[in-house]
Amino acid sequence: MNYPNYISELLEVTYDMWKKGWDEYNGGNVSYRLKKEEILRLKDDLQATNYPIMDKEQTEIQVMEIPHNMVGEYLLITASGSHFRYLHHQPEIDTGIIKLTKRGYQLIAGFKDGKRPTSEIFMHILAHAARLQQDSEQRVVIHNHATNIVLYSLLHQVTSRSLTFDLWSVLTESIVVFPDGIAVLPWEVPGTQTIGELTAKELVDHRLVVWAKHGVLSTGRDYQDCFGLIETADKAAHIALELQRISGKELSKNNILTKENLQAVCKVLHVTGKYL
Ligand SMILES: [Zn+2]
Repeated sequence: MNYPNYISELLEVTYDMWKKGWDEYNGGNVSYRLKKEEILRLKDDLQATNYPIMDKEQTEIQVMEIPHNMVGEYLLITASGSHFRYLHHQPEIDTGIIKLTKRGYQLIAGFKDGKRPTSEIFMHILAHAARLQQDSEQRVVIHNHATNIVLYSLLHQVTSRSLTFDLWSVLTESIVVFPDGIAVLPWEVPGTQTIGELTAKELVDHRLVVWAKHGVLSTGRDYQDCFGLIETADKAAHIALELQRISGKELSKNNILTKENLQAVCKVLHVTGKYL
């Protein structure tokens, strides 16, 4: 099937995340904010696919008051109950395109068989709104259950500062990938407007948010950008966990990078580490 890039790349990234073990069963959700030209070409682009396209104006499905900068935007978003192992076989069932209205959304295409957007829709809308204020090219929001990050937040009482430093100090280039650090939210009930609002607050100055004892959320300009952020943080968490397991010592008692080492990396690679 010939899908526009924003769909084919979503199919790739969801399957890659499942292969990493980050999206068991129905875990995880993804959204993409369409470009103006993609909206204009939408009908032509989807005509040769199995995506149903709504030809009549659909009734508004109310969600919450939508932030001003997101009203009129189109989101490609994964469905509640979609399985990332299988999504690439039936994207027209497991994803859909919605147009955001003042208080919710209208269905534009997809969600064949009556599925609906992920229960984390609050978070997706609020996350896009928050990042859009920082970067007009921000387009992707990904949530998954990256194993090592979740494990790390179960093992340690992490804060934004402590987790950021721990992950910077075991993988030399991670400070270049996330110089703005990682925000940590204490455990919260998923799928609520509250978790969406708390996440959006952190996204004002971070692109990566860890939901303690649950998972991670990344935002970026494209799918690769988001995947890479999570991949780097998860790899660093894996190293930190293994280091503690092998040495039997807490992280700071190991031969990890010092603050001076991190400052030297920042200087040469021209980035500013948030807490340095
Ligand atoms: Zn989750």
